[in-house]
Amino acid sequence: MRHVAIVGSGPAGYYTAETLQKADDIAIDVIDRLPVPYGLIRTGVAPDHQSIKAVSRRYEGVALTDNVRFVGHVSVGTDVGIDELTSLYDAVVLATGAPHDRPLDIPGAELPGVIGSAAFVGWYNGHPDFAKLDPPLDAPGVVVVGNGNVALDVARILAKTPEEFAGSDIVSHARAALSDSAVREIHILGRRGPHQIAMTPKELGELGHLERASPRVDPADLPDEGADAMLEPGMRKSVTHLRSFAANPVAKPVTIEFDFFAMPVRIEGDGRVERVIVERTTLDADLRSHGTGETYAIDAGLVISCIGYQTPPIPGVPYEHGRGRFASDEGRVLPGLYAVGWARRGPSGTIGTNKPDGTRIAEMVLEDIGRGAGKAGRAALDALLASRGIVPVTFRDWRKIEAAEIAAALDGNPREKFTSVEAMLAAIGR
Ligand code: NAP
Repeated sequence: MRHVAIVGSGPAGYYTAETLQKADDIAIDVIDRLPVPYGLIRTGVAPDHQSIKAVSRRYEGVALTDNVRFVGHVSVGTDVGIDELTSLYDAVVLATGAPHDRPLDIPGAELPGVIGSAAFVGWYNGHPDFAKLDPPLDAPGVVVVGNGNVALDVARILAKTPEEFAGSDIVSHARAALSDSAVREIHILGRRGPHQIAMTPKELGELGHLERASPRVDPADLPDEGADAMLEPGMRKSVTHLRSFAANPVAKPVTIEFDFFAMPVRIEGDGRVERVIVERTTLDADLRSHGTGETYAIDAGLVISCIGYQTPPIPGVPYEHGRGRFASDEGRVLPGLYAVGWARRGPSGTIGTNKPDGTRIAEMVLEDIGRGAGKAGRAALDALLASRGIVPVTFRDWRKIEAAEIAAALDGNPREKFTSVEAMLAAIGR
């Protein structure tokens, strides 16, 4: 028997398990520090994007195969060490994603009211680490930093009416806070221009269909239309949306203003954020942004930086600090240790990008481990955890938690998530 441990039960973890479980004589343990599986599908993908979240059914199919086991509520690094795992399993695959925000490194970023997207997204998605975030929504202005899809998710969630969350699984605490929100002017800051956005057309187009909010683009920021011809088709579509926003400013109570060529340089406020000082930028021949020295201020009670994520380092595991990911040779980190998904590539691509990635790493693992080295595998992990008084959450337990979440759903929503580990464990009688 060959034994593989996958650390992290998000898309990269389950796509890796999906390929591995088709091999003979293999036992796969998918370990997660939370009692609930699916990582970013549960706590990253926006709650109003249920069609994307539906991919969890595919992961469930993998989880329910005989040779795959979910080992929840076990924290690698605390409950069990990486070195222990590599001694027990033929291969250990790090599928830990990139759950930490890249820091917004400007003066004032430490003020209350400045938060990263991991925290804000985690808050509205009910991640236990961020359920108590309580973001300040009491001022009209919000600054969202970054021109990627996460910035779009954040702006859209801030702009929606309570009714527009029908059918979503936004958690009650977030829906209640957002329905009392005083937010009226959302600024999305891009340090470069419309041709350099990292926003996909479907997500950008959604901003044009919001009930009480309308997107605004300054026509002066748009390059000549002829220049769009050189863009790849998806990007051209995105820019077409921006052109349409610029051409048809609709009067609605909430505005989502795209501030292009705009780089935050300082955050000011007396005890909390009150305004962001923004420097206008220009691009050089390599399309890098540079400050022009000209600044303006945006009044804001909340700043959310959506400037990318990083994987937390693990002591003893090679790490690329500049890229915020594990250092690997195409996925091989150390003998017996691999990385996949965002932990390997850095935080880019869609959920689907993890499928070929998972397949490739699984094939690499199978090639490397051959028939296995007679390692003790899951029986030894169970004994080790038991000796430490740790009782993992099984997939069967998770399904009980899930059933309780579905039963608690309000107004036809798919589920009402538990937002603390204690509540998740209580649902399985612990
Ligand atoms: P992203 O796509 O890498 O975008 C990050 C943005 O932050 C870029 O516009 C970048 O600008 C900007 N930025 C970086 N450092 C900055 C700084 N110091 N100051 C100002 N701006 C800065 O990252 P993301 O939005 O976090 O998304 C992560 C991945 O998840 C992406 O692949 C995204 O497509 C995916 N995602 C997909 C969906 C969906 O499909 N619905 C939803 C959410 C996320 P520069 O270009 O100038 O560096």
